[in-house]
Amino acid sequence: MSRRRQIYEGKAKILYEGPEPGTIIQYFKDDATAFNAQKKGTINGKGVINNRISEFVFTRLSHIGIPTHFIRRLNMREQLVRQCEIIPIEVVVRNVAAGSLSKRLGLEEGEALPHTLVEYYYKDDALGDPLIAEEHIACFGWASNEEMQDIAAMAIRVNDFLVGMFAAVGIRLVDFKLEFGRLWDGDYARVILADEISPDGCRLWDMVTGEKLDKDRFRRDLGGEEDAYQEVARRLGVLQEDGPSEVADLSHHRKLRGKN
Ligand code: UDP
Repeated sequence: MSRRRQIYEGKAKILYEGPEPGTIIQYFKDDATAFNAQKKGTINGKGVINNRISEFVFTRLSHIGIPTHFIRRLNMREQLVRQCEIIPIEVVVRNVAAGSLSKRLGLEEGEALPHTLVEYYYKDDALGDPLIAEEHIACFGWASNEEMQDIAAMAIRVNDFLVGMFAAVGIRLVDFKLEFGRLWDGDYARVILADEISPDGCRLWDMVTGEKLDKDRFRRDLGGEEDAYQEVARRLGVLQEDGPSEVADLSHHRKLRGKN
């Protein structure tokens, strides 16, 4: 098999050179990390599910006019995306107190916030992705004021859309992380939504039982992470597409393997 040139290997994805200039292939791994990669493990089939969920979400977002890097899914674990210059900021949108916000401000997990909160973290593993203010972003030139206006507006629109999308399938969207990139056109750069949207970077709670359906199952050793990710995909209807799905095939293989 001819090997494509690997551009970058991250914690959950590998990026390869795409078939045409300006394109990249995102390969979704089963690897999972938490606490700034101090905790490492795998979630069987996660890459396949996240590839599907992210395809579904990015496609929906493009339908409401959010510009994204997504072009098309290629196979079970890969999608073709537009190459862009990643802005080194993790944008976290929160509707409900949880995780680091609860810890930092002593808020009980599950408390609804008075209004949606958008936070920025500097994307730097060595520094543990520190929380930053917009002043830091302007001071160090990580993004321009115009770009930050676009980013904040898109983050709120994405949140409004996703809250409704998940509520429709009985899931409470507690918080999530977004990444944005610059797409250059001559001297002009446009901000587009990049990376992925999946249970790896979202807190998703069952609306009735409060059960966690996201990476907190792995972070907090709750177990059942494979089933939780599958459940999100199933509720969104991404497992029923085009006949017997690849994810269903995968769990079938797992069962067969388990029998041997
Ligand atoms: N998040 C992420 N990557 C990170 C940090 C956070 O995807 O490097 C997501 C996380 O899954 C959650 C939201 O952003 O949905 C808020 O995370 P938080 O700041 O509470 O950090 P955590 O408790 O995960 O350390």
